[in-house]
Amino acid sequence: MNSIDYARENKQKHLDELIDWLRIPSISTDMAYKPEVQKAADWLVDSMKTAGLENIQLIESPFDLHPLVYADWLHAGEDKPTVLIYGHFDVQPPDPLELWDSPPFEPEVRDNNLYARGSSDDKGQTFIHVKAVEALLRTEGKLPVNVKFICEGEEESGGRTLSDFLPKNKELLKADVALVSDTGILSADQPSITYGLRGIYYDYIDVTGPSIDLHSGMFGGGIDNPLNVLGHIIAGLKDLDGNVLIPGFYDDVRELSAEERALLAQLPFDEAGWLAHTGASRVWGESDYTLVERLGARPTLDVHGIIGGYTGEGGKTVLPSTVHCKVSMRLVPDQDPEKIKKQFRDHVLSMAPDTVTIKFGDDTHGSIPSITDYSIPPMKAAKKAYTAGFGKEPVFMREGGSIPVVAEFQEHLGLETVLMGFGLPTDALHSPNENFHLPNFYRGIETSIHFLTEYGKA
Ligand SMILES: [Zn+2]
Repeated sequence: MNSIDYARENKQKHLDELIDWLRIPSISTDMAYKPEVQKAADWLVDSMKTAGLENIQLIESPFDLHPLVYADWLHAGEDKPTVLIYGHFDVQPPDPLELWDSPPFEPEVRDNNLYARGSSDDKGQTFIHVKAVEALLRTEGKLPVNVKFICEGEEESGGRTLSDFLPKNKELLKADVALVSDTGILSADQPSITYGLRGIYYDYIDVTGPSIDLHSGMFGGGIDNPLNVLGHIIAGLKDLDGNVLIPGFYDDVRELSAEERALLAQLPFDEAGWLAHTGASRVWGESDYTLVERLGARPTLDVHGIIGGYTGEGGKTVLPSTVHCKVSMRLVPDQDPEKIKKQFRDHVLSMAPDTVTIKFGDDTHGSIPSITDYSIPPMKAAKKAYTAGFGKEPVFMREGGSIPVVAEFQEHLGLETVLMGFGLPTDALHSPNENFHLPNFYRGIETSIHFLTEYGKA
């Protein structure tokens, strides 16, 4: 029997095991569930032992938070590459409970979907790789590449323990590429590989004028209004066509090559459906770029909140003392959040008159954007693997959001990441009725086997 046959013959066993893991309510944000996160980690340790992994370690958090789980299998030979596989075994809180059709920690299969908190994000996806390793070791006695696993229990609550661990354990985690399965594909019959993620920089602006709120009849025209000033500042951040007006903002943006634009143009993107979902009257943004490019490969700036003045019922003629605003910038390679922070703040200060004082957020930080060259061997292996596992060639795409761990692998370990997602847009991550499409679970195990095999040949 080969490894693919093994995966197919053990479908029910693999599903039963995953269901067992999903019964543990490993909610990391609520410390009342700390023993449950620990239980989920212990469960993973046992499952890794069963799979034949070695050097399995449960690493306690130095902050008394949640543990990490490490394991490896390093006998493929020195000439073979090493893959660092990441996953997380903590889950989001299940609230609001009343909106679940079946209890979040009593997994139930309906219409070929497995309903449970953590089924897709991320226990189901993490388990795929453990089972792929098991299938290969049971049938072939060895893996085609060297494999290391690093799994955490704090992905949904800040990831402090892993962030501390990575820079201190560069040798232990040394690898040629990282493999992260914590994302999705376009649809059940159209696999996709995300090769780019945007970064972010988030800041706060406080504008203060007079020391107390003033009456506009007595002071209006004689004292500047911080709310008017804030409006002026916001208007100077971005024009109506979507161009960010901060000097130097676009300096480090890596322009899309003709080849990449052609690749992104092939994405089967349902623009009408996407627009209908928003309820907006039309799409909008930088006219020199397509919508897909604007969403994944272009930076942007958005104001998220303004607080200030009188917002109660009826009119009140007040000049507010202090007003506040929240703003973020989504960044693309090779923009650096620290440099953007300085450019943003300098620009805001340059627009503020001397009638007000400006204060920015304390301890603001960003995450760096990341991109993986889609022509490197592990990406080619991933492409072949999806084609074999799903029976259809994957498309390549960039995503507008951020996955902090990808940026951290790049920053601390110098690793590029292959994002091998198996979720679907309908998985209801973080929402009631989270589910994992079972065909994706089974195909995922086969795809992982194909990936390790193909990458071993590279
Ligand atoms: Zn996740």
